Amino acid sequence: MFDLIIKGGLILDGSGAPPLRADVGVVGDTIRKVGDLSREQAELVIDAEGLIVAPGFIDPHNHSDLSLFTDPAAKNYVAQGVTTLVVGNCGSSPAPVTDVNREAIHELLWGEASKSVPIKWSSFSEYLTELEGLRKSVNVVALVGHGTIRAAVMGCEAREATDREVREMEAFVAEAMEAGAAGMSLGLMYVPGMYAGREELVRLAKVVGRYGGVLATHMRNEGAGLIESVIEVISIAREAGVTLEISHLKAAGRSNWGLARKALTLIEYYVWRGMDVSADAYPYDASSTFLSALLPGWVRAGGAEALLRRLKEPGTVERLREELKAGLMGERFIKWEDVVISSSPSMRELEGLSLIDAARELGVDPLSAVVEVLTADKGLTEVIIKAMDPEEVAEVIAHPLVAVGSDGLVIPEPKGKPHPRSYGTFPRVLGRLVRERKVMSLPEAIRKMTSLPARKFGLLDRGLIRPGMKADITVFDPIVINDTATYEEPVRKPEGVVHVIVNGEPVLMNGEHTGRKPGTLVRRG
Ligand SMILES: [Zn+2]
Repeated sequence: MFDLIIKGGLILDGSGAPPLRADVGVVGDTIRKVGDLSREQAELVIDAEGLIVAPGFIDPHNHSDLSLFTDPAAKNYVAQGVTTLVVGNCGSSPAPVTDVNREAIHELLWGEASKSVPIKWSSFSEYLTELEGLRKSVNVVALVGHGTIRAAVMGCEAREATDREVREMEAFVAEAMEAGAAGMSLGLMYVPGMYAGREELVRLAKVVGRYGGVLATHMRNEGAGLIESVIEVISIAREAGVTLEISHLKAAGRSNWGLARKALTLIEYYVWRGMDVSADAYPYDASSTFLSALLPGWVRAGGAEALLRRLKEPGTVERLREELKAGLMGERFIKWEDVVISSSPSMRELEGLSLIDAARELGVDPLSAVVEVLTADKGLTEVIIKAMDPEEVAEVIAHPLVAVGSDGLVIPEPKGKPHPRSYGTFPRVLGRLVRERKVMSLPEAIRKMTSLPARKFGLLDRGLIRPGMKADITVFDPIVINDTATYEEPVRKPEGVVHVIVNGEPVLMNGEHTGRKPGTLVRRG
């Protein structure tokens, strides 16, 4: 007897193998049988005739750390067929919290949806207990953020850590790993992670390595310095003896197009030499981050409060004007018109406008507009940056070492114009890139959404349709599946995702969220 049988679908098991026509039998939260179950009975039988039956999609790069507490149904991810979120990316996790970083903790975390969630914990272990107790529709895996740990010890100070401070940080990493973190993330482009020296990063990565965790890195530079940045994180991971995931691999800025392709060749070289290094990417030619992150390091040193103070000081704007002549982010050469305001809590009328248009609206020049909006939003303005080569984006995502990761988050009540990746990433790959452009096969695309990230983040019983694996299953229509979210209208449900099963329970049936919350916190080991 089975609790659930999915009948007559075409199974793509997540390994990359060709499709197999078979039924899937589930008992409790586990897949028990794959084969002919036409004589078997079950409490619930799902007819999957004409549909693809795949493992539930795993998002290895997600920022729902806090917003999941507001929308534990994770509606915009369940709608994409996603059953597991890896949070704590880009150096930022909501724990550990100390008296030193308590004030700054919300400013370290992405998404307007994260700002209002109360922090009820101090240690990483207490945070995981809260996350475990939360009734949610998806599974969660948590990384600890290096930036959060650094801020917990020494605030957002722009200097190297002392030996004693690094030892304190090592203890925080160990505590998080003991509690069940999957690894540690770096945010080397952000305050305060950007101030860490090599020795600090190697020592902390070594602690992660001791527990068999993964090091996930938002690199120091994703523009002209991309190759040097890949070499930097590979060298840190090699010395520390830790598995490496390069987050959202891309080359930003027109003059840097082609560098992501070169970075992949470099990654391949190290894989040939026996290193466990891979990457993830999202299928869009625009990225999204804080507006402040596009300014030079000296003006953001010390965090948002220091930034706001500095912007008011005489001479700051003049110095910025001189340094940003070529474009934002210095060597990345991002033009004002390529940057669109996606979230401005205090100047909603500017959302959806480029910095050029926002400046026109305010009757000032673009830099003055940046200063004005950052001041009004207390440094928390978020932007979308259109600076990647669409051809290179498709090539990167089709590479065998690259998993699909959205870099988005659960958004309970959409405000502004969030990046469409939070609504369309997975269906977009299957529709636009696989069915329409044929940049890779369908079994290969499914592998990149399932077993590839599962293996990387230590999810040993997920990511495959096999007896004994957890019953996380996504059933979709291969002819229909696609995203509908655009930069102009991002808050739109994708098409073609029919049923989603998490731990044996349906969370999406015939395209509608069931309201059920069978998701678990998955601790490492
Ligand atoms: Zn990042």
